[in-house]
Amino acid sequence: MKILCIGRNYIDHAKELNNPVPEAPVFFAKAENAILRNGATFFYPDFSKDIHYETEIVIKINRIGKNIEPQFAHRYYNEIGIGIDFTARDLQNEAKKKGLPWEIAKAFDYSAPIGDFFPKNKFPDIKNIHFSLDINGKNVQKGNTGDMIFDIDYLISYLSKFYTLKIGDLIFTGTPAGVGPIAIGDGLLAKIEGMECLKIDIK
Ligand code: ZN
Repeated sequence: MKILCIGRNYIDHAKELNNPVPEAPVFFAKAENAILRNGATFFYPDFSKDIHYETEIVIKINRIGKNIEPQFAHRYYNEIGIGIDFTARDLQNEAKKKGLPWEIAKAFDYSAPIGDFFPKNKFPDIKNIHFSLDINGKNVQKGNTGDMIFDIDYLISYLSKFYTLKIGDLIFTGTPAGVGPIAIGDGLLAKIEGMECLKIDIK
């Protein structure tokens, strides 16, 4: 199982990190060691002093596919959930400055908490799904899938040119604006259309 993540898929987030709006999806991968299940504790790692949350809609691939046309992409997933793409921003900025890959800033252990998944037919319009993150009861991030630069079908199609998508693979579809640091003692709660689906405590 693999986790493919889109780096810049909301214009307002690209702007807040001073990144250009991309012409093609920018993506990177995490491995299975990055998964953290709903309700678990995230232990702040000592290699970073600036771990950021990025709240993202996640889709789960349900059949094998390669070179998938965008118009057929919807057949390759039937569950939607939410995940947090934890990012060691200090390590990422250092790597970017040197022109190096940001692997360790993104794919470290437990850097991909995922919540409960919902059948996609629960959502009447895939291009209008609200999601949010609260920290300690205060809303810090809000997004809507309608604001994606590249929609879910396009992402599936694009990624499948390079990688065979397999059952159980996860695609993190990018974060809206509002990313920020987490701290020890924080309680994170992510919601999709108001439904609580991911809770993580930071220790
Ligand atoms: Zn992200």
